[in-house]
Amino acid sequence: MVETLGEAWNLSWRIHMRCLDDGMQGLKHKRECHYRAELDMATLVTTRGRDFPIARIAERLRCPRCGCRRVCVMFKPPTNHGINAEAVPRGWYGR
Ligand SMILES: [Zn+2]
Repeated sequence: MVETLGEAWNLSWRIHMRCLDDGMQGLKHKRECHYRAELDMATLVTTRGRDFPIARIAERLRCPRCGCRRVCVMFKPPTNHGINAEAVPRGWYGR
């Protein structure tokens, strides 16, 4: 179970954000945003620290395009199914 930025970074996870602004804020009609971007894990770990819980990343982010705080964050393990190569016993890949 990965719970912190440091662990996710060790596992080469990638992080994507998506803006949830649907343009329905207040009475004013704004254009929908739905901004998407991949964030840089190294920068996040550097600025938030290795012990920062990944469950709380979203509440610290803002959409760079519209400035809203309703941001959804998705973590994606690498294509090797998130297996940490250093934790895999020798010969495991040969099976
Ligand atoms: Zn936005």
